[in-house]
This record gives sequence, C-alpha cells and structure tokens, in this order.
Amino acid sequence: MAYEENFQQTSEPKYKCLLFDIDDTLYPFSSGLATLVKNNIQEYMTQKLGIEEDKSPRTAVGYDFDYDDFHRFVHGRLPYTTLKPDPILRNIILGLPLRKVVFTNADKAHAAKIISRLGLEGCYERIISFETLNPNTNTESLVAATETRSFTANPDSSIQLPKTPVICKPSEGAFEHVFKMTNINPHKTLFFDDSIRNIQTGKRVGLHTVWVGTSHRDEGVDIALEHIHNIREALPELWEAVDDKAEEILDPGKKSPLKPLLKPNSFKAHIITKDMILMTSEKLMNTIIRV
Ligand SMILES: [Mg+2]
Repeated sequence: MAYEENFQQTSEPKYKCLLFDIDDTLYPFSSGLATLVKNNIQEYMTQKLGIEEDKSPRTAVGYDFDYDDFHRFVHGRLPYTTLKPDPILRNIILGLPLRKVVFTNADKAHAAKIISRLGLEGCYERIISFETLNPNTNTESLVAATETRSFTANPDSSIQLPKTPVICKPSEGAFEHVFKMTNINPHKTLFFDDSIRNIQTGKRVGLHTVWVGTSHRDEGVDIALEHIHNIREALPELWEAVDDKAEEILDPGKKSPLKPLLKPNSFKAHIITKDMILMTSEKLMNTIIRV
C-alpha cells in the first residue's frame, strides 16, 4: 500500500497547467505600454468624465461613459507596433506539454492584439479577459474595472478595491471563477504575473507563483523572474518532464542508443541546433554577398 502511494506520488506530474497574465508579463514593462495605458485611463477620467487627477478613482462610480469610446481612447491610441514577435517565448510555450491559459484583467480586443503582436496565436487553449468574467458589462462595472487596474498596478498606494461587483484579479473570487470555468487545479498550476497583489492572492488560493519582471522575492512569491524568457533556467524540471516523455516515446525499453542523444536537456539542444543553423545561414549569406 505504502509502495503504491509512493509510486503515485512520484509518477504524478508536479505541474499540469501554466496560467499567464499578459501585460508586463508576456512582454517587459520597459516596452512602455502599461504606462501609456495608465496615462490614457487617467486622461480619460479627467478629460471625458471631469474627475480631478488627485481624486481617488472610486469617485468615478456613477459617471456615465460609453465602453467603445473608452476602449478607443485607452487602447486605440497605443503604439502596438512597438511590440515585436517573440519566437523565443513561442518556442518555450509550445515546447511544454502542459495546459496553457491566459488570465488578464484587460479587455478581449487588447488581449488579442498583444497576443497577435507577440506572435503567440495558438499558444493558449483559452484567453480569459475582462468580458469573460463580466459578460454583462455596464458602465459601473467598467469604471470599477478601471479602478481595479489602478489598484493592481499600485501596490503601495492607498487605493482600495472598488465595491462594485466586477470579477477581476486580484479578488480571490476571480481566481476561483477561472478555476471552475477552465477546470484548473491550482495546486498543479504555475501562475505568472507582474503584479505582487495578484501573485499574493494567487498564492492564497493555492497556485504556485512566479513573479515576473523582478528578481526580488516577497511574501507569496515562489519564484521571481526578471524576464519571462528565464523560465527555462528557473524551472528546469518542466523540461525534464519533456525529456522523460520523449524518452518514453522513442525508447520504451529504456535501452535504446537514442537515450544519450536526448539527455541532458534535449529541448535545449534542439534550440541550440536551430540557432546554429541560423548562424550558419547568416555566415553563408555574408559569404555570398562578399563574393
Ligand atoms: Mg500585468
């Protein structure tokens, strides 16, 4: 019995799902997009709603505004073209045989645009956006969503979560809702986000947490990554699982001469080989040009 329990524990994978935020997580804060979004929201509130800059965002509740106009103003003017395709991230995500889900507070159109600009289409089984969790969007919920964004982005400010019932990170209810909708087991899921508030709530609801964009540790942070590309170095066990799976497929008897070629880190070897091919092609092109 004890043997069986032990066997089950060791054969069960530690992670089955990767849950990603989008903004400042899949691309770095240095892109400047998040700052522009924040400025545009502030500008919208002062210009269109007549709210003074130094007032708490909660004072926006009760104002009437049009969602399309808000979206055009806040996101329509963003320089999305500054974001470039990220084949390294695409390779990392597609190379891992785990479920991958996006969970963002941003609206659907913004999420789709970012995913497209980064060249990450087809990498995720589902994208949970603001509209997914708040299908009956009305003015009040949109204002509350705006306030929630300010709250999330300002961990040290005195901003409070809005009382209007929108379902957004970092509320625990939003996470629970996502787990139910997607059938995610938080104890088997790695959660990537740049907001410490989201990370700490994620930890409370049982997720394994990866704080992206910093090397600092804080309460509720399991792993800190300066850049999303560092997943490979920070979580080598994810690739070990890939190697083991490849071994099982190619070497069911575990005695095949293929084995030494696959270990260690066959995925890394694959990447290096691709890079080497690219370098070789570049050298060849240079030679041709010089000739
Ligand atoms: Mg974010």
